[in-house]
Amino acid sequence: MLPIVEGVSDGRVTSAVRTTEVPIVPRDTHELGPIIGPGRLAAVLTAGHRARQALSGRTVMHVNSTATGGGVAEMLPTLLGYTAGAGVQVRWFVLRGDPAFFAVTKRLHNRLHGYCGDDGDLGTTARAAYERILLDAATDMLQVLEPGDIAVLHDPQALGLAPLLRRRGVTPIWRCHIGTDTADAITADAWTFLTPYLDDVAAFVFSRASYRPARIPVDLTWVITPSIDPLSTKNRPLDTTAVSDILVYTGLLGGSPALPPMFSRRDGSAARLERRAEVVQLGPPPSPREPVVVQVSRWDRLKDMIGVMTGFAEYIATTGSGHLILAGPNASGVSDDPEGAAQFASCVQEWRGLPERHRRRIHLASLPVVDAEENALIVNAVQRHAAVVVQKSLAEGFGLTVLEAMWKGRPVVASAVGGIRDQIADERYGLLLPDPHDLATFGALVRRLLDNPAMASSIGQRAAVRAADFLPDRHLIAWAELLIDVTAC
Ligand code: UDP
Repeated sequence: MLPIVEGVSDGRVTSAVRTTEVPIVPRDTHELGPIIGPGRLAAVLTAGHRARQALSGRTVMHVNSTATGGGVAEMLPTLLGYTAGAGVQVRWFVLRGDPAFFAVTKRLHNRLHGYCGDDGDLGTTARAAYERILLDAATDMLQVLEPGDIAVLHDPQALGLAPLLRRRGVTPIWRCHIGTDTADAITADAWTFLTPYLDDVAAFVFSRASYRPARIPVDLTWVITPSIDPLSTKNRPLDTTAVSDILVYTGLLGGSPALPPMFSRRDGSAARLERRAEVVQLGPPPSPREPVVVQVSRWDRLKDMIGVMTGFAEYIATTGSGHLILAGPNASGVSDDPEGAAQFASCVQEWRGLPERHRRRIHLASLPVVDAEENALIVNAVQRHAAVVVQKSLAEGFGLTVLEAMWKGRPVVASAVGGIRDQIADERYGLLLPDPHDLATFGALVRRLLDNPAMASSIGQRAAVRAADFLPDRHLIAWAELLIDVTAC
């Protein structure tokens, strides 16, 4: 990204210091018709029409902290693309924090999930580091926002903008993607830090009702479930030859050296896969005949990549065949996550300590992030190739990776935490791990699926049907209702 980005708004050119504007590609909702059917299509078209009328020219600006990497960045292009396609004025600004800012926001992220994180404090110095960035960011935003406009602030990173925008007549909505079902001293620490910014928020959006702390009024709270884009490079169908070509080329599957595969981008243009994954492995990648267990995640302690690796080594590699691929973004690539590189290094260190026979079956893949669609294509292929997809998170706001795997008809073993429980009914749409720290049960659940392909296949088929409940139309309708409500106040 450029250090200073020129944003164009209504013909005015603005210099931004602490934000970067991400272009939104408008999308026509009709393209969802063949997937969601005429009834659902009509409902989402009506909602879009009503929202456009209610907003009557107001701008809706979304603000988050990264344009690539993680679930929020995954959803915004789709959500905002269809919103723009419906004729709503929508913009997307990304905060440009510094290391001190992201250290504080990562601390908040961990604590809202009930984990201490880096053990740093959330006192005056932390607040100053947080507010300093947001003060500049608000200045950028107010160059293009007018009184009456709406700002949708994503996660703790952007919440502190609320008072700065509210006093200039902009209506802030806070969309918090994370949380826990139970409060404790650690979550209270994060909420104490965030409390001064809550009073200026006009509406709160959580992924689960239980994430709302008591201090946030129920009547201002909306529960909106995330969604995936079925037409994206990450989720659209790929045949087995394409999957194999992509994985052989990127180094995740054994086979004769392949030419760089061609693929089509979300906008229909043709492209060639250029970059390979960097894979920490001993010996060759798995052969196409060997079953592969996959977890795709950011390198984040709460995704417990190390736990997956240890559980695989102790309870899966010892009981039968199979390889494990842990795939995540190249750790240098996620700008708002200061812990990614250290987490990846810890995984590699742990891997080095495993017996050689296990290391031969465990592959740590850093996926290229230079081109987000290239990254998405590799994720698509690795999820489709997996015999079992796992998501052994210790905490999870929603867990889009679970939904992505379900949409592809893959059987999933996932921790019974956070939003994963809203996606998977145990034994029906996947297998839930009651205690994410219980490696023996984790191993047994994965082994059950590996050893019972018929059961795995029927769970996968039911999962694909279930995943259709989480497509963009329902997400867009929920947002339309919220925006209509907020503009009526
Ligand atoms: N993801 C990706 N490339 C990677 C690793 C993850 O595109 O190398 C994506 C993943 O497919 C999913 C998102 O990042 O769409 C992660 O969202 P999720 O809700 O699972 O977790 P979060 O990262 O938001 O905690």
